[in-house]
Amino acid sequence: MNDLWELQEETVVDTETVDAIILGAGVSGLVAASVLVKQNTARIMVIDSYDRVGGNHIDWSRDGFTFDVGSLIFQDDSPLVKHFPQLLDHYVHIHPSWGRLNPQRKVTTYPISVKDDILAAGPVVIGRILFSVLFARLRGKTMRNAKDFAAYWIGEYLLRRSGLENYMARFYGVAPDYIDLELAQKRMLWIKENSSLTNLLRKLLPKKPSVDHVPNKQLARPKAGYATLYEPVKRALGQNGVSFKLGMDITKLEKIDGDRFVVTSSCGKTVTAPRMISTIPINNLCDLCGLEQKRPLQTITLISLYFSFAGKRGFDQSILYNFSYEAAWKRLTVYSDFYGPTDGREYFAVEVVANDTITSIALAEAEFRQHVAKNGIFDGDLRLEGGHVLDNAYPIYVHGAAADARQQIETLKQYGIESFGRHGAFNYQPTARVSTLEVEEALDYRHPEPQPA
Ligand SMILES: Cc1cc2nc3c(=O)[nH]c(=O)nc-3n(C[C@H](O)[C@H](O)[C@H](O)COP(=O)(O)OP(=O)(O)OC[C@H]3O[C@@H](n4cnc5c(N)ncnc54)[C@H](O)[C@@H]3O)c2cc1C
Repeated sequence: MNDLWELQEETVVDTETVDAIILGAGVSGLVAASVLVKQNTARIMVIDSYDRVGGNHIDWSRDGFTFDVGSLIFQDDSPLVKHFPQLLDHYVHIHPSWGRLNPQRKVTTYPISVKDDILAAGPVVIGRILFSVLFARLRGKTMRNAKDFAAYWIGEYLLRRSGLENYMARFYGVAPDYIDLELAQKRMLWIKENSSLTNLLRKLLPKKPSVDHVPNKQLARPKAGYATLYEPVKRALGQNGVSFKLGMDITKLEKIDGDRFVVTSSCGKTVTAPRMISTIPINNLCDLCGLEQKRPLQTITLISLYFSFAGKRGFDQSILYNFSYEAAWKRLTVYSDFYGPTDGREYFAVEVVANDTITSIALAEAEFRQHVAKNGIFDGDLRLEGGHVLDNAYPIYVHGAAADARQQIETLKQYGIESFGRHGAFNYQPTARVSTLEVEEALDYRHPEPQPA
């Protein structure tokens, strides 16, 4: 008798057998379920430790204010919508604008302003910028990390002066000289694009309206929160043979007889399937399987601060990035610009990357208050309504992490587990669109061509 049979004998009512198990009910897990349905997998089980679907799309409400962990903006042409067209009935159409607080204490264009960051600086600074770019391009230094990459394109002087170096450190959780070059080449191409001479000149010229380009619509979650958005998705998947085990605390994941996986929960229930897909963090997955890791992958802890405000706001944009030299907060999103104020108060969330000194909501709040007061960002009654601490928010790409992740994903593959998604691939996925495309690629799925009418 094999181990699985013994297990089933003992806990016969508590074992479920399906064709595929998906770990994680975030965008990646939901899209994976949708793809498997389309590929004719009959019984699919999606498991998550959260008691709801949607993954790290997390909201929090109080007294008519609804916040979420970060800026979450979607588009109507996203491939996610092809899987789940019901989302379009719930998104709110918005007109976001993006700004940035630069080190010279000015709120200006994101990610860089030719006018404010370069031209307004005067001839001496312009000369230094040009000299620094020329020096970077001509000296032929081998690029080793993200700082070398950015410095090559905009020069070390502008990298520092524009606050981009500080923003990168805030964003990636380590100084840019510790960030993998591979990540910079993959994810920071906008620096190269924005700094090419032709693009800079194009920016200075008046824009011609494009005749055939139809811009996509920018959308936000419903004011009521994510449940309204993702419950219909869960229902639609349920109608196609997908079941959900939410709020499940997994204690073990085993492979039995070389061809079956068994997931065990803390209350002793088990689910078994021949196919195992994972979108949960690689570290967690290796722990559950008892697989050794050379060194654990590092991730960022994100502290979100939820504020309401009455008074004078020092910027017009709905999303503001912190490119200044001080403070750990990296971005704030003003929800009342999308949903309207509540009881006359504006409200917004601030994303703060936790570091050695900013380790709690209280510390993050104190530093944010001090910084915005100094920079004239909020002048009035700023009230903290709540906050959230999110572990494993996104990967930290210190040198060698990408190679370590690849090796661990390969080890999991040898074991029989397909691991992908933001955490499963240890891949910074900036948008739900990218997450969707990467799941489709991992599962070798292409949307059918539309039929001619
Ligand atoms: C702060 C922030 C802002 C963002 N802003 C935008 C934006 O404006 N627009 C946009 O399109 N995208 C945005 N994104 C990106 C987008 O959210 C991601 O691309 C997408 O959510 C990734 O989905 P995922 O399923 O791979 O991961 P996740 O959503 O993180 O889902 C992983 C799931 O795995 C579960 N899990 C983890 N460990 C276990 C375990 N041991 N057992 C069971 N379950 C487990 C978690 O509970 C979670 O539900 C943002 C992301 C963040 C963090």
